[in-house]
Amino acid sequence: MDMKWKIWIVLLLFAVVSLTGCGDGTQEKSTTTVSDFFESGSIGNISKIADTEWELSLADDNNDSALPASWRSWWYIRMDNLVQDAPTKITLKNSGWPYYYLPVYSFDQKEWLRFAESEVNQNANNELIITKQFNHGTVWLARFYPYTFTDLENYLKTIQGNSFVVISIPGNSGEGRPLYLIKITDPNVPVSGKKRIILHARTHPAETSPSFLIEGLIARLLSGTGEAADLLSGYEFYIFPMQNVDGVITGNYRSTPKTENLEMSWTFDASNPLNLTGTVSQEVSVIHDCAIKLMSDGGPPVSMALNLHASNSEPDIRPFFYPHFGPVSLGYSPEQVSLWEKQLSFISNVAAHHGVDMIEPVPADGGGSFATKTYPESWWWANYQDRVLAMTLEMTYGRAGYSPRWIVPDDMRDMGTSLVLAIRDYYSGSPKPAKTTLKPMGSIENRILKYPHLYPPKAADEMKE
Ligand SMILES: [Zn+2]
Repeated sequence: MDMKWKIWIVLLLFAVVSLTGCGDGTQEKSTTTVSDFFESGSIGNISKIADTEWELSLADDNNDSALPASWRSWWYIRMDNLVQDAPTKITLKNSGWPYYYLPVYSFDQKEWLRFAESEVNQNANNELIITKQFNHGTVWLARFYPYTFTDLENYLKTIQGNSFVVISIPGNSGEGRPLYLIKITDPNVPVSGKKRIILHARTHPAETSPSFLIEGLIARLLSGTGEAADLLSGYEFYIFPMQNVDGVITGNYRSTPKTENLEMSWTFDASNPLNLTGTVSQEVSVIHDCAIKLMSDGGPPVSMALNLHASNSEPDIRPFFYPHFGPVSLGYSPEQVSLWEKQLSFISNVAAHHGVDMIEPVPADGGGSFATKTYPESWWWANYQDRVLAMTLEMTYGRAGYSPRWIVPDDMRDMGTSLVLAIRDYYSGSPKPAKTTLKPMGSIENRILKYPHLYPPKAADEMKE
């Protein structure tokens, strides 16, 4: 390159630097910023009033404004160059849910802390207002404890190589990422005498609670105790820890980057319900294929299929299940009553381990509309009726039974422990009888709910749609 061109390039660079103000020194550098350009990050409109005052709107999944408001819940941001000697006020607008909650924050994306109730207010428009002085230059804030795809891969490294664990990749997501399957059992014990359990989580990407639950469940299975040895020799656990991996990375609440709600995508063929019809998302077909294989490979069939979610709700709503059908007195068929009784027996066993006061009461009537929908449980029922206990567990984000404190990841891991012990007792031959420990739904006991008309949390869009 000759000298004339070099001079022109230098002059051009100088002009660009001058125009953008990059050379203006420290004043602009210290301007506070908000961003979501990282894994699981999400925010909609960002309105800066001042360095210490922000109005943020929640984003629609994939910025698709045609989606229902109830699909707006998740947000996760990074703030840089914070003013450290004065409080920062952040107003969160446009949530699709009315409930008060305490977000979480972190200075390193590893240790996450809850805001105090005194730092978070809710105005008449159900907007959340955080006021806090951060003594750090950078902070991450989120709706709830994040659990990213990277977190999952880091976790998998900690159990990989354990002789009771096989991690495989039976398929890929729509964007080509691995859909992990964790199989846990004692490989030296013949499969013929084992029970098969299948679990999946993160169908709705922002529902991070079940990821912590799964860590707790696996920790109990790998704890090296005699109890764990019994579980490993008696069961095969098949766990899909992150179904909607692309949605997790994108920072969506409910859907894939193509705005598919995978929960509704088990579109079985009425004439042969084993098959799914239409264009089936890879994230669904991978689990579907695995289920069919486990039901037909000559080993023991799957007898329990748990679908793990988390529900927006009032702060004091505890985890709950969605059992299907109801008692014979309500006119259900023998097979429907049989499934209902199995579900209630299992829930009673969970309550026995986790605390009778730590999960919501079951409804008096679970209803049968799920059977005409396209949920995973609909597919299981259409094909295997009461032979497979297929049910959704909804974790919750708030105080969740731990009042006055708010739930933390170790509480969710404890729920995983309760779940695995409940599975053992349910199959033990002397399970806790159904219904003995559970109060009828509708008794709100001593909890003061701000939105009693929204209780119990069973609106269709709350659940699946
Ligand atoms: Zn969900």
